[in-house]
Amino acid sequence: MRFSRPIRFAVLFAALLGFGLQASPARAERLKSIALLAGLLRRAGTETLVARDCPKQLMGAFVFARNAVVLCANNLKDDPERVWETLAHESAHVMQHCRRQPIFERDRLGLDFLLASHQSPELFKAVGQYHPSQHRTEIEARIVQGLPAEEVMNLFRRSCADRLL
Ligand SMILES: [Zn+2]
Repeated sequence: MRFSRPIRFAVLFAALLGFGLQASPARAERLKSIALLAGLLRRAGTETLVARDCPKQLMGAFVFARNAVVLCANNLKDDPERVWETLAHESAHVMQHCRRQPIFERDRLGLDFLLASHQSPELFKAVGQYHPSQHRTEIEARIVQGLPAEEVMNLFRRSCADRLL
């Protein structure tokens, strides 16, 4: 995969992904959340990059070796909602890395998992395609991507607090 330069601003981000700039309030809100979370990731040392040549199906990835989150512009298209979900999902993997342990306690994980998988069963079906050793981290990331933006950012601030100093 080839990466473009890091994302700094919402407008640049929107342009990179081909969004129109006359966003509806809901789109504008999502774009704002995307920019804020990308900014938080950056403060913690993790760049958000855009790739245009991802394999089909791949929306994003946390590339540990580069300490970078990659968003797959060729698959995400003109959909800020999907971009947000993908960024939130990959930020969960960054949080797991910051914490060196799972994000959720096992009992809370069970409850969140039940709730989230009830709301979007398709999302959780895909977990079965991962190696069993990745199931917990993938379930956590799917729970995080369904949380309100403010909660995702608070969780990130708590999880990566020592990198944000
Ligand atoms: Zn994942």
